[in-house]
Amino acid sequence: MKKFVCALLAGVMSMSLLAGCGSKPTEPDANAPADGGENNTTAGETLRMVTNAAFAPYEFVDDNGEVAGIDAEIAAAIAEKLGMKLEITDMAFESLLPALQSGSADIILAGMTVNAERQESVDFTDSYAKGVQVIIVPEGSEIAGPDDLNGKQIGVQTGTTGDQYCSDTPENGGFGEDAVQRYDNGPLAVAALLNGQVDAVVIDNEPAKALVAANEGLKILDTAYTDEDYAAAVQKGNTELLDKVNAALEELKADGTIDEILAKYIHE
Ligand code: GLN
Repeated sequence: MKKFVCALLAGVMSMSLLAGCGSKPTEPDANAPADGGENNTTAGETLRMVTNAAFAPYEFVDDNGEVAGIDAEIAAAIAEKLGMKLEITDMAFESLLPALQSGSADIILAGMTVNAERQESVDFTDSYAKGVQVIIVPEGSEIAGPDDLNGKQIGVQTGTTGDQYCSDTPENGGFGEDAVQRYDNGPLAVAALLNGQVDAVVIDNEPAKALVAANEGLKILDTAYTDEDYAAAVQKGNTELLDKVNAALEELKADGTIDEILAKYIHE
C-alpha cells in the first residue's frame, strides 16, 4: 500500500505527462446537436465520465496508466447496464462541474459530495456511498479536534467540501479564507503538511487513510468533521440519463455489486 500510494503521488505530480491518464480526449460528436449537446442524454453510445484520479481508493491511476478504483468500477457497471461504452477523463476536481455544464462530459463520479450549492448547477443521482471529512495532523501535533484548528493553517483540495467548510466564516462554523491553503489534490496538500507549510489537512476519510498509510509521521484525528453522501452527477435537466443511472444503481445495490466493489477497496 505504502509503495503504491507513493507511486500515485509521483503520478499526480507528473500529471501533464500522463496525457489524460489512459483516456482519450473528448472528440466532437458528429451526432450532437449544434447547440453543443445540451439536454442530449449521452452523446451516442459512449458514457463520458469525468473524475479527479488523485482520490484513492475512489479513483487513482493504476500501474497501466488507467483510471481505476471504486468510482471507475461502479461507472463500468452502470455503463454495462446501459449498454454503453465507458470513457473516463481525468481532470482537476474544480473542473468537473464546468465539464458537465459545458456538455463535454455526461457524468461525474468523483467521490463527490451531494450539497445544495452543487445542486444549483447539476443533478445528483441517488447516493452510492458515504464520506466523512477528517483531519490529518503530524503525530505529536497539539491539534486534537476541529476546535483546535482556530488560528492554524489548513490544507485543503481546491473546490471540495473540505475547502468550503474550512474557508467559511467563523459564524458559519469555518475558519475564514486566511486559514486555508488550497492545493490541486489531496496528495499535494499532504506534501505541504509534511513540509510544515500547513498545520493540518481536511479531507475525506478514505483518501485520508491511504495518504496516512503512504507517509510516515501522520495521523487521522478521531473527531470527524462531518458526514456526507457521495453521488454521481449529470447535467442539470438530463432526467433521461438521471433516471437510467438511478435505475442501474438500484439494481447494482440490490444484487450486491455496489457492496462488493466498496468492500474490495475499503477495509475498516
Ligand atoms: N467529497 C469531497 C467533495 O465532494 C471531495 C471529493 C474529491 O476530492 N474527489 O468535495
